[in-house]
Amino acid sequence: MSATAELRERFRSALMPTYGTPPVAIARGDGCRVTDVDGNHYLDLIAGIAVSALGHAHPALVRAVRDQVAAVAHTSNLFVHEPGVELAERLIRLVRDPGAGVTGAAPDTDVRVFFGNSGSEANEAALKLVRLAAGPSRDYVVSTESGFHGRTSGALAVTGKPAIRDKFGPFTTDVRFVPYGDPAALRAAVDDSCAAVFVEPTQGEAGVVQPPSGYLHAVREVCDNSGAAFVLDEVQSGVGRTGHWFAHQADGGAVPDILTLAKGLGGGLPIGACLGFGDYATAFAKGDHGTTFGGNPVAASAALAVLDTIESEGLLANAAETGALLAERVAAVDDPLLAGIHGTGLWRGIRLTRPVAADVQEHAAAHGFLVNAVTPDTLRIAPPLTISAEEILEFTEALPSILAESRPQEEGTAP
Ligand code: PMP
Repeated sequence: MSATAELRERFRSALMPTYGTPPVAIARGDGCRVTDVDGNHYLDLIAGIAVSALGHAHPALVRAVRDQVAAVAHTSNLFVHEPGVELAERLIRLVRDPGAGVTGAAPDTDVRVFFGNSGSEANEAALKLVRLAAGPSRDYVVSTESGFHGRTSGALAVTGKPAIRDKFGPFTTDVRFVPYGDPAALRAAVDDSCAAVFVEPTQGEAGVVQPPSGYLHAVREVCDNSGAAFVLDEVQSGVGRTGHWFAHQADGGAVPDILTLAKGLGGGLPIGACLGFGDYATAFAKGDHGTTFGGNPVAASAALAVLDTIESEGLLANAAETGALLAERVAAVDDPLLAGIHGTGLWRGIRLTRPVAADVQEHAAAHGFLVNAVTPDTLRIAPPLTISAEEILEFTEALPSILAESRPQEEGTAP
């Protein structure tokens, strides 16, 4: 029995089957490459679903984590520590002043940060913040169909995927769902009893689905007119994934009231952040919220290493350039299974003409490429932000063979 088969067997009998039994068992990583427990090598084009911003075992990340564990691993939130404060300050700077030619929050906007351990926790903090700021007369929240905000009860309540949500109701938050990307539906759903509108800048779990240009501005306007909070979930899109620090800073910069981050922020270590702007910066008082591990020194040091390295290695530009190269090369592949590629930066969806994404994922792995069948007909590509043009080309050159092998049987290969 292979080491992978053995580990899968043990996984099956020891873990709850929430993730099925994943086919690949990863043992180590280096840059954009990972090696499984049997010694097979893969190019990692999914990076733990947008988590591994710097790739695997980046020296800056390893150093930061090692040094911090050696200094002090955890202080609990009874005490203040330098990496946590520094990280909050850095995030505040980045949302106010994201860089040349990009719009951020006004320089004098009050911004404060709460740290949790995940995207779900960042959204839970957002929900509680909204509840406090909105008061009891605002008794419902609007979210988007097919949107994803997490699996904990509050985050799941605002998640617009009935298959994973509905069997866990009733929820404590009354949530109304509107079609994503449609300002008219949003206007019709939001009145002055609405506490908040939850949206993603692009829906990652729905297949990297982009709204029409200007959508976030429309959300901003609806929230301004109704007094609802604009909660922007950048758990998947944030921290460089799109080629900007944060996705909302593209397209003219519609600034939210609450911004949630996680995934790429810690470069592989668990950390989530909920940023409140303006009145939402100061809505929580002492004792209103908390979590033991949130923003602990090790995770905060890892996040600082991520932010430093994105800057020092020019990874925003790399994400934009290598992402554009990927899109161009995939678009040039002529295959009956390929419908097109969409998305921005290093966050892409390859759309298929048939619901065979799971087969393509499997064939890609056999060729040494890890991709993700995010929907039946979409492959999600979200590699480390450090990926090179050569590594992108390695994948695009193999793609025709992968697709040919994935064609449904009855179509056969080309005559
Ligand atoms: N929001 C978005 C947009 C996400 O993509 C995810 C994770 N896929 C979450 C929230 C939940 O994050 P976590 O799994 O870290 O709780």
